[in-house]
Amino acid sequence: MTDKRIRRIVIMGGGTAGWMTAAALSRALAGQGVAITLVESDAIGTIGVGEATIPTIHWFNQIIGLDERQFMAETQATVKLGIEFVGWNGEGSRYFHPFGTFGPPGDGAMFLHRLIRARADGDMAPTEAYSLTVQAARAGRFTLPVNDRRSLLSTLGYAYHFDAGLYARYLRVLAERGGVRRIEGVVASVQQDGESASVRSLTLDDGQVVAGDLFIDCSGLRALLIGQTLGVAFDDWSHWLPCDRAWAAPSAAESDRTPYTRATAAEAGWRWRIPLQHRVGNGYVFSSRFQDEEAARASLLAGMDGAPLAEPRLIRFIPGMRREAWRANVVAIGLSSGFLEPLESTSIHLIQSGIAKLLSLFPARDCSPLLARQFNRVFGQEMLDVRDFLILHYHATTGRDEPMWRERQKMAIPDTLAEKLAHFRSSGRIVLSSDELFRDASWFAVLDGQGERPGDHNPLVEVVGRDNNLHQLAALRAEIAKTATAMPPLP
Ligand SMILES: Cc1cc2nc3c(=O)[nH]c(=O)nc-3n(C[C@H](O)[C@H](O)[C@H](O)COP(=O)(O)OP(=O)(O)OC[C@H]3O[C@@H](n4cnc5c(N)ncnc54)[C@H](O)[C@@H]3O)c2cc1C
Repeated sequence: MTDKRIRRIVIMGGGTAGWMTAAALSRALAGQGVAITLVESDAIGTIGVGEATIPTIHWFNQIIGLDERQFMAETQATVKLGIEFVGWNGEGSRYFHPFGTFGPPGDGAMFLHRLIRARADGDMAPTEAYSLTVQAARAGRFTLPVNDRRSLLSTLGYAYHFDAGLYARYLRVLAERGGVRRIEGVVASVQQDGESASVRSLTLDDGQVVAGDLFIDCSGLRALLIGQTLGVAFDDWSHWLPCDRAWAAPSAAESDRTPYTRATAAEAGWRWRIPLQHRVGNGYVFSSRFQDEEAARASLLAGMDGAPLAEPRLIRFIPGMRREAWRANVVAIGLSSGFLEPLESTSIHLIQSGIAKLLSLFPARDCSPLLARQFNRVFGQEMLDVRDFLILHYHATTGRDEPMWRERQKMAIPDTLAEKLAHFRSSGRIVLSSDELFRDASWFAVLDGQGERPGDHNPLVEVVGRDNNLHQLAALRAEIAKTATAMPPLP
């Protein structure tokens, strides 16, 4: 009987995507006689950015068996409690998109309706006062969340900022310990099966041939296998997400680190500020239609809190996604599958999500098109959901008068986002499907932060009388403030 199982996996690329995939596959397939080879080229290098994560990173770090303390030390990581958006409603404006949930432990979605109602009844407290995560972030304090759903600490959420290069290096050690073989070299050509177009092998510039049954394309924006070899089309979303360039530069570490990413709106895009243990990551993501590269470079330098430690680096990209991330025996993971700009730090999550979907749909050697279709359907939907959330940030901006922002406010948005906005504006509902990455608290934080006002609340919350609701919310604010103050200061 012929062997139906995949015996040779080739991972093309050794950036964050390549080494995350290698670490996860070597663990999941341990002891099953599957040879995993990773090909990367130091001469080509990696994209070298990607420092902010979202809380789903815990799930990935756990499945590959990372010890949190060691991981944080190895990658110079800091705690991230969310993102502070500055200037998105005009100069001087700011709001916070925290991880975790708003209000008391328990039903977060219903709490938001109590808050909407309290506002209509005269509650003037800022939204931040209802988030333990934001209060902790503002106080520079932190403690680990707990699972006990009766404790206020269960409403906390956190992720990390880390050095992506060190993360990949750390994962490489784990993957190589798990049996992954690394080959250094430039892939010069790709051989395909004439009939099925499946990839059979990669030939490196030194003549070495690397054959495989399944190929994971982690070659970054080049998309060497899924794009250049198999010709899978790319959907360009720059009419919705205008930024297509970024300048990035590090500055010196700060002793008083803020436990959050800062995203500051600027004339033709936005600047990020990400504090790590050993440095601060800075960048300016901008639209080349509205600002030339030199002016954007100057804008980054002018907006940095500290002097740059290195020459700013320019990265060019097109926001959008590959129409199929899996075709034949090639699965694209990482930037090769698409890129949605870094505003909500979702790329590393999408890498994890691609890996998880590949593990649950792991094919036999025939790489069934049925499995590929399912992968493409669920992965594609996740990209669309994240895309809509990002478009909201640009579209719902007020108080900015630069041409790019005026165009964003007027643009036609996808029907799926228009429907969500209509629900919120009319009844305060946040309508989500069960698989959506960003949940009620995230949508509320951004809708509310960008000045969207709901027309009503869920009438069911009226079971609590008006005065009772206002008193309970005042007591909750006091408890949140007290709990945040009682947390230990950040290390
Ligand atoms: C401006 C910007 C900011 C970002 N910020 C964030 C963030 O805060 N949070 C987040 O989650 N994500 C962020 N991202 C995305 C994140 O950087 C990427 O998702 C992540 O680094 C994964 O990249 P990758 O491994 O797919 O590609 P790369 O890092 O580009 O790696 C590609 C690999 O393929 C190899 N390769 C390519 N061609 C060949 C060849 N011919 N032969 C041999 N090897 C080859 C390269 O050597 C390299 O090893 C950001 C991206 C950009 C552009």
